[in-house]
Amino acid sequence: MLICDTKKCDFCGACVAVCPFNAINLYENHFEVLESKCTECGICVKICPTKALKIEK
Ligand code: SF4
Ligand code: SF4
Repeated sequence: MLICDTKKCDFCGACVAVCPFNAINLYENHFEVLESKCTECGICVKICPTKALKIEK
């Protein structure tokens, strides 16, 4: 599953913009992955400028 380290995340929204499956919701200081939509494609992991995202099996 996709994990966000919210200590690293600056809530820039880049992952939301790039996700082809609309699987990420961002709220003020809260990051939510919709596991039913996320395909673990890794696109957001690659583009996150603060390297806050990773996929854990
Ligand atoms: S791209 Fe990275 S830093 Fe930006 S909101 Fe997403 S997880 Fe946070
Ligand atoms: S891993 Fe892919 S499907 Fe999952 S949230 Fe990131 S960009 Fe979207």
